[in-house]
Amino acid sequence: MQAEQQLKPYFRSSNPDDPICQIFEHRRRDDYELWRALLPQPDDREDAFIVAATIAPGTGHGETYVYNRFVALWVLDQLPQTKALFETLWHLDFARLIAIGNTLDLEEDWGDIDAYLCRYLTPKKPEQALPSARQIAAYIRRRLGVLPKAKRNPDMLVEHVSSRNHTYLGVMLSDAAASMLRDVIIRNAEIMGISQADAVFCMLMGVGTKVTVNVYQDQGGVIRTARGDAFTGDEATVLRDHISRTRPLEPPPATKAYRFTEKMRAFIQARDGHCRFPGCSTPHYFCDIDHVHEFDRGGETAVENAQLLCRRHHNLKTSKQIRAYIGETAEVTWQYPDGSTCVTLPEGVLER
Ligand SMILES: [Zn+2]
Repeated sequence: MQAEQQLKPYFRSSNPDDPICQIFEHRRRDDYELWRALLPQPDDREDAFIVAATIAPGTGHGETYVYNRFVALWVLDQLPQTKALFETLWHLDFARLIAIGNTLDLEEDWGDIDAYLCRYLTPKKPEQALPSARQIAAYIRRRLGVLPKAKRNPDMLVEHVSSRNHTYLGVMLSDAAASMLRDVIIRNAEIMGISQADAVFCMLMGVGTKVTVNVYQDQGGVIRTARGDAFTGDEATVLRDHISRTRPLEPPPATKAYRFTEKMRAFIQARDGHCRFPGCSTPHYFCDIDHVHEFDRGGETAVENAQLLCRRHHNLKTSKQIRAYIGETAEVTWQYPDGSTCVTLPEGVLER
C-alpha cells in the first residue's frame, strides 16, 4: 500500500506532504471562489466589461485584470472535463486559467480540446512539474490548429522608427516560421561572428551562411518544428522544395565522442522541444544539449542520457547544486539541495 501510494502521480505543486503546497492550494481555491462570486453572466460581454471596470478600482488593478478572470471562468465552464479535474486537484492558479481562457476565447472551433486539455493537465508521474501558463497556451495552440489561420497582415511590413538612423522592421509570421527563422538567424550570426541584426541583412542580401534546419512531418503530412508548431500551407510548400534529406526519426546509436551528432541533436530537439528545467520553456534553438550524467564521470553520449537546457539552467546544473537524473521514458528528475524533487516530461513534436 505504501509503495502504491508513493507511485501515485501528482504535480509537484500538489505534494500532500509539503506545507507550502497546501498554503498555495488554499490561496488558489479562495481566489477561485472569490471570482466565481463576482462573475457576471456571459450573455452580454459589453455589460460584463462595464462590471469589470466598476469592480477594478476596488481590487487595486485595472479592468483588464478583472475581465481576464471573467473570461477564464466563462471558458472553464465550457470545458466540463477540465473543470471537474481542476475542482478535484485545485492545481491551476489564475495565470494558468487565464492562459486557457484567452487562448480559447479567440478560437471558434475547439474540437476535442476539453478531453486533450484534461489529459494534459492530469499528472502522469509523482513530483511532476506543473506546466506553466505559457506551456499550457502553447499546448492548446498546437492542439487546436492543424494549420495556423491565414496570417493577419501578410503584406504588412511593420516599420517603427526607433532612434536617429535606426528603424525596427517586422513581419507577421506563423509561430513555426518565426521559430525556424530565429534559429537560422542565430546560427548565421554565430557562424559569421556578427550581430543577429547584421545576420538578417546578410541573409536577405543573399550572403548568408547555409545552415541545416530540421523540420518534422507528422503522419498527417503536416510539417512542424521541433516544438510542434505547424507551418502554413504556403510555408510548407516552400519548405518541401528545399528539403534535401528525409529520414524516419529513430533514436540514433550512442557514440564514444563527447559531442552529440547532428542526428542525435535532431532527435533530442524533437523529443524535448524546449529546456527541461522545471517551469522553463526556452525553445530548442536557444538550448545546449546536456549529458544528464556527466561525460567525464562515465555518462554516455547517447539520446538516452541527453536533455535540452537553456544556458542559464545548464550553468545551474553544472554548479552541481541542483542535480538531474534521466529515466527510461526520458523523464528528468531534478533534485534540489533540500532533497526535494521535481520531474519534467519531454514535450517536443515526437511526444505529441
Ligand atoms: Zn531553462
